[in-house]
Amino acid sequence: MSIEVQSVTKSYETQLALNEISFSASKGEIIGFLGPNGAGKSTMMKIITGFISPTKGTVLVSGINVLKSPEEAKAKIGYLPEQNPLYQEMYVKEYLQFQASIFKVSKETIGTVIETVGLSPEVHKKISQLSKGYQQRVGIAAAIIHNPDVLILDEPTTGLDPNQLVEIRNVIKNLGSEKTVLLSTHIMQEVEAMCNRVILINKGKIVADDSLEGLKNTSPTDSLETIFRNLTSHVGSI
Ligand code: ADP
Repeated sequence: MSIEVQSVTKSYETQLALNEISFSASKGEIIGFLGPNGAGKSTMMKIITGFISPTKGTVLVSGINVLKSPEEAKAKIGYLPEQNPLYQEMYVKEYLQFQASIFKVSKETIGTVIETVGLSPEVHKKISQLSKGYQQRVGIAAAIIHNPDVLILDEPTTGLDPNQLVEIRNVIKNLGSEKTVLLSTHIMQEVEAMCNRVILINKGKIVADDSLEGLKNTSPTDSLETIFRNLTSHVGSI
């Protein structure tokens, strides 16, 4: 298994953000990680990447315990946070070389990654001069530069125009064939276009974990939006 999340609970002082979450994922899975705002998606992603610690529970990435061996685990994980944190004043190539140096990645690999994400035409520009779509590609390039087994993408397609959307979807789909991708989004079309599995969380608990087809078949006459609403509209506290 590439990702194993075992009974993870996270409390922020008085706020219970995740309540006994468990799931596992393997290579070739592109998982849409869905839920309303505040459901706990970013918290779960930050715990898998070792960015924050759970209150209880265990996360293994490629068999490595993220809490016990954070550096070893991070070498297996690529992470694109929601606010893609790029150095605006750096040139694209300079930034990727900087990221590559952290993981001691070769120059040839940087070239391959630039090709993979379709950055070649923009590679000599400053990051601040790039469109949002190309900035996302830089973020994805930085996330995959060390060839991680697992990619965690927090709302990777937000703010892209329709052409950029199609291109980034293709980049993610291609990456998903040889990695495990966990991506959060609010856009059901994104899920239909990219994901082969859906994990839906609501108020810190998993309310659905199924293949895309399986989830659709739970209510064949409804759209994915309606299925999402029906599973997450329950009012109450966790
Ligand atoms: P999502 O990504 O699904 O929108 P989050 O993981 O950001 O959800 O948040 C889950 C819950 O945890 C929310 O109630 C949010 O307000 C709370 N939360 C997130 N980060 C913090 C924090 N640093 N301190 C206190 N509460 C937080």
